[in-house]
Amino acid sequence: MKLNENYKNVEESYLFSLVATKVSQYTKQHPEADIIRLGIGDVTLPLPQPAVNAFLEGAAQQGKSESFHGYGPEQGYLFLREAVRDYYESFGVHIDTEDIFISDGAKSDVGNILDLFDKDNTVLIPDPVYPVYRDTNVMAGRDIRYLNANMENGFLPLPDPSQKADIIYICSPNNPTGAAYSREQLKAWVSYAKEQEAIILYDAAYEAFIQDPDLPRSIFEIEGADTCAIEFCSLSKTAGFTGTRCGYTVVPHTLEREGMSLRKMWLRRQTTKFNGVSYPVQKAAAAVFTPEGLKACREHIAVYRENTRIMAETLKRLGIWFVGGKNSPYIWLKCPFGMQSWEFFDFLLEKANIVGTPGSGFGKNGEGFFRLTGFGKNEDTQKAMDRLQNLL
Ligand code: PLP
Repeated sequence: MKLNENYKNVEESYLFSLVATKVSQYTKQHPEADIIRLGIGDVTLPLPQPAVNAFLEGAAQQGKSESFHGYGPEQGYLFLREAVRDYYESFGVHIDTEDIFISDGAKSDVGNILDLFDKDNTVLIPDPVYPVYRDTNVMAGRDIRYLNANMENGFLPLPDPSQKADIIYICSPNNPTGAAYSREQLKAWVSYAKEQEAIILYDAAYEAFIQDPDLPRSIFEIEGADTCAIEFCSLSKTAGFTGTRCGYTVVPHTLEREGMSLRKMWLRRQTTKFNGVSYPVQKAAAAVFTPEGLKACREHIAVYRENTRIMAETLKRLGIWFVGGKNSPYIWLKCPFGMQSWEFFDFLLEKANIVGTPGSGFGKNGEGFFRLTGFGKNEDTQKAMDRLQNLL
């Protein structure tokens, strides 16, 4: 019996546990401290009401023999896939319902998609980025090359034609930096992927936060992407589904390599290993895409956006370099006074009782940077920024 020894190479994920430990130690020593948490990557507003109503209706249907649903289609109910198709259509992207796969979220799909690829592929992963891309490839023993994201490229690295690649991860708007690729920049990635015959794994989990009409919401807004990209999206941040669980992945039927259809492979993979998302959750998800659902989601996002606006204004006033915020719930700032990420974390916690996330937890290029999120309450965010302003 042999185990998958690659797990020995997966780094211990201590970022959020260390944040929690430090905060709990501090509050033990300073029970009177009014801690404001701007480190959270989870939503704080509840599900939008249209989703709740549909969720309840779906649950009630499960309790009556005439409307009961047993095993459903693993790919997702057609009513939800059609709703997702129409959503894409609303920003000018045509997707076949057959190419849409409903899942319990982007994290699962981003990890599971690797079932489709051989171990011997060269993987390009931005640094810093959402750690799941790196860890899932380390677990599979794949060769990873990092794309350096830094201040010089605005944390939006572009392809290097001399670099070989088979699998390319792009996350836009990005977690943790909040930076979002322009159309021209994504065109460069699509043309590079086609030259390399590589496949782009495009994570659009934060597309709903894009407000600049010139920025693409989907990789499929770029011509030719349907022959070189797979897109992952999620209702977690769009509609507050982090605890309800629903996402979707688009694998275009036009995407083929070595005479094999990736859509067919993914369908086979999902029908074999995945049971689909529960009926009431899919009902709730479909309600998100109705006009009332979209309106309610926009209202929630507007609350988070106001937070990032408040933070951006403060950082500008203080002359602190940052990216993100406008088209994303994240702000990525350069730690002042040349501080390291954890040093600034301690400084903020102790001097202003503000909790953020040290950038070094997202990759080596994150050292010296810091992530603030817009998922808090408006009044807390304002209070935190007033404290920051006084402190600095
Ligand atoms: N992709 C990115 C970039 C994320 O930041 C997150 C969650 O933080 C996810 C995917 C996970 O999304 P889900 O909740 O749908 O699994």
